[in-house]
Amino acid sequence: MLTRLLLFAALQLAGGALGGWWGGPWAAAGGACAAAWLWFAWDAASAARLLAWLRDGAGRASPRLHGTWGEALDRTHRLQRQHEQALAASEARLHTFLSAIQASPNGVLLLDEQGRIEWCNQQAAQQFGLDVQRDQMQVIGNLVRDPAFGAYVTARDFTHDLLLTRPAANGAAPTQLAIRLHPYGEGRTLMLSRDVTQVQLAETMRRDFVANVSHEIRTPLTVLAGFIETLQTLQLNEAERARYLTLMAQQSRRMQALVQDLLTLSRLEGSPAPGLEAWTPVRTLLQRCAQEARELSHRVLPAGAAPHQWEFPDDASLQSAGEIAGNEAELYSALSNLVSNAVRYTPAAGLIRVTWQPQADGGATFSVRDSGPGIAAEHIPRLTERFYRIDRGRSRDSGGTGLGLAIVKHVVQRHGAQLTITSTPGQGSVFCVRFPAGRWRASRAHSPAASESTAPSL
Ligand code: ADP
Repeated sequence: MLTRLLLFAALQLAGGALGGWWGGPWAAAGGACAAAWLWFAWDAASAARLLAWLRDGAGRASPRLHGTWGEALDRTHRLQRQHEQALAASEARLHTFLSAIQASPNGVLLLDEQGRIEWCNQQAAQQFGLDVQRDQMQVIGNLVRDPAFGAYVTARDFTHDLLLTRPAANGAAPTQLAIRLHPYGEGRTLMLSRDVTQVQLAETMRRDFVANVSHEIRTPLTVLAGFIETLQTLQLNEAERARYLTLMAQQSRRMQALVQDLLTLSRLEGSPAPGLEAWTPVRTLLQRCAQEARELSHRVLPAGAAPHQWEFPDDASLQSAGEIAGNEAELYSALSNLVSNAVRYTPAAGLIRVTWQPQADGGATFSVRDSGPGIAAEHIPRLTERFYRIDRGRSRDSGGTGLGLAIVKHVVQRHGAQLTITSTPGQGSVFCVRFPAGRWRASRAHSPAASESTAPSL
């Protein structure tokens, strides 16, 4: 400001001096006055140029100004640059923030005071079948036309989730959405949606499982209680007592088997998958399976019935059957379950064939073929579900718990192997477990210790 005053004073002095030199004191006063007007005109023109530039939005090239107006222009420039930088930074922050919301597995919608969609992420668009561009500023109630949603919005009680079933496109299963509204700001609403289809499915499965277990335990318990009451109240002879006790023992064995299988399943679910450190000779596993299968066969076939016909790998091929990496008890449980199913479901004189076959890719396949009743195609995909049985009575009569194949599936998956079931009704079934290359190795030098080992139980 001082410079500006000095400049103004210097110009007047110069005008006055020039006027005085030219025509005396009146001319000096006139010169000073003319210099003041000249300065004023130049100053006003500079201010007008600056204002015109600012009025245009400071977008085009800035005017060349000097002195105070030049400095004002520079400062305006600097402020404008700072403003642009702050704007860019806040835009970048907004972009990061929106990207984070886009990455959310949940749907997010921002609604204005009238319930119109101001913004929504892709998840929400997918869950509600919205078009992010087209449906912007559309009222959400017009797009989610479910009476339950309308009632939820009207009631304005947002302390709990609303569960909505949304029809899926392309004939897929409908999805279950948990929706919650959160009011914020002045009349605005944040709407969150979560796909809970899997959670609901797991909950249904858990409920079915508990119901199944209760039912499976209640049946033998009821029978046992009946027998106990009979023994307590009736005078029985020795033969009757013995028969009742045999039946009671059968029922308690059934419960024991069920509890044992449940514990096995829970251990399989709760422990990490077996690594590649421990190797079990295939010979040990198959010899144990064969022995147990023969004993089971004696128990399940009626007295005097023609025995099962067996085909097991002979000793020579078992010597070179190699080793599998994993948990020995689990592996034994899976393979023996398949063999014992073949025994239990194959009628007298039927054929049971167990093979072990190294594969060209470095893996190996275990298979059990039987000449039993076979399984209709529609049952095959469901056989590994817990408590899924084709013939409930037959399964129970032969001591089945309905959990055998569920255990097999778990063990097989934990060992990176694959279970395949092929069957022709009336002709028999084949259950194959294919171990991948890394899980099987050819036999090392035969070790007597290995051949005598007894597998631990699960
Ligand atoms: P279960 O204890 O009832 O045998 P599993 O899980 O082992 O339970 O088997 C499930 C069902 O699969 C059985 O109830 C039976 O109907 C069928 N199944 C299993 N193995 C065979 C087989 N070898 N032949 C015919 N059906 C079989």
